[in-house]
Amino acid sequence: MTGLWAALADLVVPASCAGCGQTEGRRTFEVCARCVTAVEALTAHPSRPTPAPAGLPPVYALGEYGGELRELIIEYKDRGRHRLARPLGALLAQVVSRAVAGRGPVLMLYVPDTPASARERYGDHMRRLAVAAAQRLNLIGRDALVGQPLLARPKADSTALGIAERAAAAREAFAINRSGLRLARHAATRRAVVLLDDIMTTGVTLATAAELLADEELEVSACAVLAATKRRLPA
Ligand SMILES: [Zn+2]
Repeated sequence: MTGLWAALADLVVPASCAGCGQTEGRRTFEVCARCVTAVEALTAHPSRPTPAPAGLPPVYALGEYGGELRELIIEYKDRGRHRLARPLGALLAQVVSRAVAGRGPVLMLYVPDTPASARERYGDHMRRLAVAAAQRLNLIGRDALVGQPLLARPKADSTALGIAERAAAAREAFAINRSGLRLARHAATRRAVVLLDDIMTTGVTLATAAELLADEELEVSACAVLAATKRRLPA
């Protein structure tokens, strides 16, 4: 196959492993056996950024933001490989199980994409992950629901800001979706609330979202993320 045909085929069946890029051998959900083994070897654990922002609930992460896990997240999030939502959602479900021990019911909320990001990604990438995580938990017999009381406002690039400025910008970044809030509050009366995101860096986004939810009488008992960046102490 050459030219147009090859390009079309590539859209349907990506030619390479989403974790390591290799094109040989069999792949499951676009991931080769070696990368599946590497990611399945990760176990959810408590994770805390240094310094941790005030109000950050306990956070659990599957792994460090690196290696195969990082590649899978990037391919899923920024390169349109939506089929990865199912395995990544199942991995996130493992983190949720670790974050809320036992078999009690959970309500999963997530950090939403901005409208622009959701358009670029053909849908909110965290919503897809949350839904896949809920499906996985339901499959193993656990009551799990997805709710969404948060809306993301369009935001400016915050990479050049200091930590206090980032906190202010993060608070500005969200608004409350009233109908989503009503449903979430109702669901939360008999469920532990877990806040999901894909990557934790400073923890400011999670802390801010949890604080906003607490202001609306929704107490986040824990956060669950796929990956946490390595702790970096300020110089
Ligand atoms: Zn691979």
